[in-house]
Amino acid sequence: MTPGLYVDLAIPVALDKLFTYIVPREFHNAVKRGVRVLAPFGKRTVIGIVVDTSTTSQIAPKKLKSIHDILDTEPILSEELLSLSKWMAEYYFTPLGEVFKAILIRGATRAGKRIVKINIVDNDKINKAFRPDSKQSVIIKELSRRKSATITQLQKNIGIKSLYTSLNILAREGYVSIEEILPTTRLKSKSEKIITLDDLTKELLQTKIQALSVPPISKKIQPQIVALKTLQSIDENFISVAQFLRQTGISLSTIRTLARKGMIAISTREVIRSTDDDHGESYLSSQQITLNNDQQNAVQNIQKGIQSGSFQTFLLYGVTGSGKTQVYIEAIRDVLLRNKTAIVLVPEISLTPQAVHRFKYHFGEKVVAFHSRMSSGERYDAWRLACDGKYSIVIGPRSAIFAPLKNLGLIVVDEEQESSYKQFDQTPRYHARDVAIMRAYHNNAVVVLGSATPSFESYANAMNGKYTLLELPERVDNAKLPLVEIVDMAAERKRKLSLLKQEPSTEPTNTPAMMKPRKPELSSISDLLKNKIEDRLQKKEGIILLQNRRGYSTFIECPDCGNVEMCQNCHITLTYHATKKHLRCHYCGAVKAPPEICPKCKSADIKYQGFGTQRVEEELEKIFPSTKMIRMDLDTTTRRGSHSKILRNFAEGEVDILLGTQMVAKGLDFSRVTLVGVISADTQILLPDFRSSERTFQLLSQVAGRAGRSTLPGEVIIQTYQPHNSILKHVITHDYKSFYDEEIQYRKELNYPPFSRLILIEFRGKIENDVMRDATIFTDLLKNRNSHFLILGPSSAVISKIRGLYRWHIILKDLKSKDPSGKILHRVLTKTLEIFQRSPLRRRKAVKLVIDVDPVGMM
Ligand code: ADP
Ligand code: ZN
Ligand code: ZN
Repeated sequence: MTPGLYVDLAIPVALDKLFTYIVPREFHNAVKRGVRVLAPFGKRTVIGIVVDTSTTSQIAPKKLKSIHDILDTEPILSEELLSLSKWMAEYYFTPLGEVFKAILIRGATRAGKRIVKINIVDNDKINKAFRPDSKQSVIIKELSRRKSATITQLQKNIGIKSLYTSLNILAREGYVSIEEILPTTRLKSKSEKIITLDDLTKELLQTKIQALSVPPISKKIQPQIVALKTLQSIDENFISVAQFLRQTGISLSTIRTLARKGMIAISTREVIRSTDDDHGESYLSSQQITLNNDQQNAVQNIQKGIQSGSFQTFLLYGVTGSGKTQVYIEAIRDVLLRNKTAIVLVPEISLTPQAVHRFKYHFGEKVVAFHSRMSSGERYDAWRLACDGKYSIVIGPRSAIFAPLKNLGLIVVDEEQESSYKQFDQTPRYHARDVAIMRAYHNNAVVVLGSATPSFESYANAMNGKYTLLELPERVDNAKLPLVEIVDMAAERKRKLSLLKQEPSTEPTNTPAMMKPRKPELSSISDLLKNKIEDRLQKKEGIILLQNRRGYSTFIECPDCGNVEMCQNCHITLTYHATKKHLRCHYCGAVKAPPEICPKCKSADIKYQGFGTQRVEEELEKIFPSTKMIRMDLDTTTRRGSHSKILRNFAEGEVDILLGTQMVAKGLDFSRVTLVGVISADTQILLPDFRSSERTFQLLSQVAGRAGRSTLPGEVIIQTYQPHNSILKHVITHDYKSFYDEEIQYRKELNYPPFSRLILIEFRGKIENDVMRDATIFTDLLKNRNSHFLILGPSSAVISKIRGLYRWHIILKDLKSKDPSGKILHRVLTKTLEIFQRSPLRRRKAVKLVIDVDPVGMM
């Protein structure tokens, strides 16, 4: 062990270890945990984050390299976010550097361009403060020649690499200012030029006007006098130059001349980029609200939790429309009174503007949104100002859980059962609800999980006392839960077919030949639903229709040979999109033209099967030709703001039918909706996933909850080919608890969560044999050291290929009764991974291994 100063760095590479570096003497005072440093890494220079500092090193210093420089004066990651990151790295089997990549805003871990500008050139002062041969003096000398330079330019001109620490000192003392431009986007704070108009300046304006007004007044002087007089009349403390020029028609050269003469002072001011895309959203009620008894009780309990200043988790189980959001709002009011801050997670980006709007109504400028559809500039501003304490409420989808708020008092996870809280496609594969609980734990803060249909995991935790259960069993204002009716589509089909036999076919003749079905195609809309829609259209009440499949036909099939068009890269059927007239893969995005004849048997009788939203829309247009309707699914809402616009049109009654995928099931609160129709309840029931019943119940209850939220009573029509499925029985009675009691039995019998913990290990690669081999080697290694948990597989995944990569799965099932904390599983898996990484047998390059802890999808 050699004394000195050493740092352990997390570097954003896929290697699961920290890297030790020497800290040169000159940086000893500046280095601390959570700052970014520049360090040599192979042939590159990378940004690393200091995770630990130490005065001794296990490795001989001869073998260590030195860091080049330190980038931050203040840690970019607080101690609290550092320890949360460490937990995530360990729990989700992810390198710490990759966790940081997820936590920090994009670009922060890549070397950015920095521009240094000189502020004061008081040579005496500088000579006093720094020795003439010091780096600081050299920098100032160089900068006084060129006024501003990037750090790279400075390094080159001065011939010294490590300048950051000296620059940071100069910046702290105000000699220079450093602007960081993040690399991906040229990110920097936005500023504008302003003319200062404080009282003193204004007083002096008069003398200046007099000075100028000595006759003869030239043509050049005249506009200058006008400008000064106009400035005199302005009430504000400053005015932006651009605005001044625009409003007065005075020219820029006049202003410049005045500035040069020292008659006015121009400076720069930072402008905060607005994060609103909810301008003019007027559909949310904003009247004064008095909480009902259940709400009050919930708020009081949460307040007590906040007051106690210790970690606690509440499950706010309240039926749809029971006023959960109002409870969050009152809880946050309390948090702010205690000078603490809050994060509110919403399940989807598209719901963020609505939520922001509602919270801003109560908390104004303290609220900020945080999501990936914001421009990089907006994100940067939001991040920085949340850090600085200007914002105290951050709202957004899952990544908002990493908002750098200080003094966190409360985290709300709205619709906590939503699977969108899980990052499933990228490392770290975290679940924002679980991270929220850990973050609250580190902060002694309170978590409120809200739901009308809690996840089984959370409800079980409420039952076993880990969480405190708060209930809102009734809708606010005596609104009743809607009446739910089931339509048996099989019976409907039989009835319609027998009718058709009696009548000659009325099939329209303009259907293209390739789409002409052999058997008569029946409408996806039952007579009952059709009648109900007609009735609401007459009354001008709102209608929401759910079909949880986008596109036109969900698959196309040849009835002669059974061939189904599949994606070449993925083991999945292609969806026909009528708008673009092509087949598209919803996994990899590949498109191709639909075949005119069956590629296998050359039959011309290809059938377009399954109803996507586009097809339902087309049918509705035929049945109700003059009705305004709007479709909302991934295909119509990718543009920023498109989602808000759709909802506004619907809220204001310009549109009568809102048709869409699960997007229409969530969060919408429109009092004019009195009818909800589910075109097919069967889209999820049959999926080979142990959560498919739970998801179906959630989706149907959620969408049903959109109806009758106010004085007008609501009605729900659910169409299905499985009218006797017991899930539906519980949906009709709005009885979550009895559904839970029934379904939890299956979970118990089959040892699924919440009775066990699952880890999904995926192997993927181009050559299936390699994939299978690695999966088998890994399974054998695991079996050798395990006696505690169940190992299922290896086996080919349900979707055996995605984007050209074959997939094999191993599922680990760890019973909570045997391994309550999951430590045993964790230890065994860590060890196995270590051995496997070193194994000479594995196909290192050809096969990628992905670990998904607590997976939400198993296919
Ligand atoms: P949830 O989140 O449970 O679906 P919301 O909080 O959105 O319910 O409340 C539904 C509607 O009822 C909203 O329009 C809200 O403004 C209103 N609301 C909530 N609490 C009350 C109350 N105590 N009295 C009257 N209206 C309320
Ligand atoms: Zn065929
Ligand atoms: Zn594909």
